[in-house]
Amino acid sequence: MEPAKLKKVAVVINSIILLLVFGHMLFFYNIDVPFLVAFSIPDACIYLIGFILIYFNKLRAYVWMVYCWVTLYTGVTTVCIGSGYGFHLYCFSLIPIFFVTEYISYKIKPRTMRAVPVGIVSAIFYILYTSYSTFYGPVLDFDQHHRTMFWSFNALIVFCFLIYFSNYLIKIIINSEEKLTQAAQIDQLTNLYNRHYMYEKLVTITNEDIQCVLAITDIDNFKRINDTYGHNAGDEVLRCVSEQISKECPDCEISRWGGEEFLIISYVPFAETITMMDNLRKKIESSHVNFETEEIAVTITVGIASRCSGQKPNEWIQIADNRLYHGKNNGKNCIVTGIDT
Ligand code: GH3
Ligand code: MG
Ligand code: MG
Repeated sequence: MEPAKLKKVAVVINSIILLLVFGHMLFFYNIDVPFLVAFSIPDACIYLIGFILIYFNKLRAYVWMVYCWVTLYTGVTTVCIGSGYGFHLYCFSLIPIFFVTEYISYKIKPRTMRAVPVGIVSAIFYILYTSYSTFYGPVLDFDQHHRTMFWSFNALIVFCFLIYFSNYLIKIIINSEEKLTQAAQIDQLTNLYNRHYMYEKLVTITNEDIQCVLAITDIDNFKRINDTYGHNAGDEVLRCVSEQISKECPDCEISRWGGEEFLIISYVPFAETITMMDNLRKKIESSHVNFETEEIAVTITVGIASRCSGQKPNEWIQIADNRLYHGKNNGKNCIVTGIDT
């Protein structure tokens, strides 16, 4: 998460807590516990200071302050009015925050927040003050008739927070996993699959004995295109050829196998694959790639091979590759489906 977004999230969380503080203050006033009404004043001040710390980018100081204060606050309220009001439950909402904070501090360095020790300290305090309160009963003497209602309110707030927060985290994890998968499988320049993904695909196909045809396509004289029009023009040619392959081979899996080489897996029969690849070759030959003021002529050579039973991916690729290089040595701009020996 970027620092600006982090700051925004911190402001939202701080504002919600501050509203909650005023709500609690009103409640303490209602049940006539003046000590806790007074205690709500430093409570509110803490979160007002929180805004200042967030504003000056002191997020670490802010987080430590909130941890300490929430622990103290839940401790004092529980000891004063007993655990029947559910103030101690707020401690549980800190647990996921400890871990997310450790993760964020690891991302923005240095990794100074350690969730496990902080969590253990928090648990010790929790056990101490809830045990004290259970054993001795509430310190303050007052009318307890709002107990169930307020316990439910506090429990609801804590549950809502935990559900919302966990859901938010899972969404972030799924999103970043999708981005990582995409980055690991897709070539950035052409948006086609990369070599790694395609090789894995070929391994699966050979293991499961799936019927398909392999075509290796290489742009002819690509070095000359780069030398004549520049590297950016070369990149544009790669993008345009990729688009044309995707258009002409709709049900195929297409990858950028190397620099200006594309490996295509076709699931249609051999004869249809030959027609499809020849159509592609003709389309590329008859169109130009426009780059700035230039019109660049492009041709491709293709080696095609169907798979013989028992053939390993490398052996299969080698046959298609040999056919491709046969085409390269015999005038280029052609389709090679076999070599006469
Ligand atoms: P042939 O017809 O025999 O295939 O010759 P060729 O010039 O196409 O092949 P060669 O292997 O001699 O040159 C390939 C060139 O492709 C060399 C390399 O600099 C260039 N190349 C590789 N990757 C990229 C890329 O991502 N962008 C650009 N612009 N050029 C690239
Ligand atoms: Mg080439
Ligand atoms: Mg090449």
